[in-house]
Amino acid sequence: VQLKRNVQRLWWRRFVTEREDMVGMDAAIVTHPTIWKAAGHVDNFVDPLMECSACHTRVRPDKAIEEATGTAPDSALTLEQLGLAAQRANVTCPKCGLRAFSAPRHFNLLCRTSFGQQGEEAFLRPETAQGIFVNFAAIVGTVRRALPFGVAQIGKAFRNEISPRNFLFRTREFDQMEIEFFCEPSEASTHFARWVSDYHAWLMAMGLRPDSLRLVEYERSRLAHYAAATTDIEFHFPFGWGELMGIANRTDHDLRQHSAACGRELKFQDPRNPQRAPFFPHVIEPSIGLDRLVFALLCDAYHEETYRAANGESAQRLVLRLHPELAPVRFAVLPLVKNNEDLVSKARKLAHDLRLAASPFEHVVEFDASGSIGKRYRRFDEIGTPFCVTVDHESLRDDAVTVYERDTQQQVRLGVDELLRVARRGGGDFSSASTRAP
Ligand code: ATP
Repeated sequence: VQLKRNVQRLWWRRFVTEREDMVGMDAAIVTHPTIWKAAGHVDNFVDPLMECSACHTRVRPDKAIEEATGTAPDSALTLEQLGLAAQRANVTCPKCGLRAFSAPRHFNLLCRTSFGQQGEEAFLRPETAQGIFVNFAAIVGTVRRALPFGVAQIGKAFRNEISPRNFLFRTREFDQMEIEFFCEPSEASTHFARWVSDYHAWLMAMGLRPDSLRLVEYERSRLAHYAAATTDIEFHFPFGWGELMGIANRTDHDLRQHSAACGRELKFQDPRNPQRAPFFPHVIEPSIGLDRLVFALLCDAYHEETYRAANGESAQRLVLRLHPELAPVRFAVLPLVKNNEDLVSKARKLAHDLRLAASPFEHVVEFDASGSIGKRYRRFDEIGTPFCVTVDHESLRDDAVTVYERDTQQQVRLGVDELLRVARRGGGDFSSASTRAP
């Protein structure tokens, strides 16, 4: 939870509060069917599905073919062609192992619910984006922005996925971090290119390795009917390359669709040029799944290493090299031994002071007294804690502590005052780790 919160916090800071052209919003999760009819989801938000004739397990033929052959089938294949391709690829049922499937059909991924006293039909949103479009008039009437400007939102999305799998990669309930960036139609391609490169750079600053990422530009035939351009940023997950996020140039499709459905023109009036007729701005949409990003960050941070222990022998450790700003536990405070009242109470006090000092940055501080110091260092290496602070007998006399740094395994002696000062600034310049926020 804390890792997720840290990712959200850094995202919000990087893409909302550090920019002058972004605002945040929080739209409804349960939404009226008209929204999804207008957005095209009621008719088109479908995946192909086929069912095992023996045990009725449902599989997605396109993903099953990709798993069996290592290559995704052409997205333009008809359902019939997909069925034949699944036969050729010898796709078997993941549950009973048989190879007898029904013909593929379309399956709508919208999650239905009912709402209100009459139990009217409603949908759980499958993406946060449409909430921004349907609130467009309220947003522009409130925030007084000229183009270009963007609206950012973090929130739950629900999809009735046919085969949720691969840990956090595909779940039926997940969090998205989405931006709709509204701009002049003539500037859309420039903004699109900028968002692709900004996001790519940010993902690397967050700790993803350059060779774990690749940009996949969609060819014209693969583009959704509303998109003028789409680029996915893919990550090399343990099961292979998969979409981490997508950036799409959605033109003015959504605002036009919702305008037609609600009978009110969701157009933009240029505040700098009142003579100009209201027009539909174009929109660039960078959309990323928070859970997929957390999964990717965990994958690239995970290291099994050999190091030279204090006794000169080689030893193994498992270390999560998360950026210090992302680490769920920022500081661990360790009394050297657990059965010395003075050490324990000094360490508890220091943990408390560190918590207060670090609280504006949401840095978690843990207190841990059990096991040898070496064992405790390993425990905190494993969860990516960048700094372990040991309180020893000497600390009772000189009010100084030993700070162990996860990445270099170096230890420095530091006054408690100095440690608190650094924690209050949200930094950690007593270490060699880069502590600048991504
Ligand atoms: P996929 O092809 O993997 O189903 P998609 O192209 O349907 O993904 P989008 O509709 O573009 O995904 O959603 C934007 C982002 O939301 C994705 O890039 C991904 O990070 C995230 N996302 C989508 N579906 C899921 C899911 N079922 N579980 C977790 N994250 C998801």
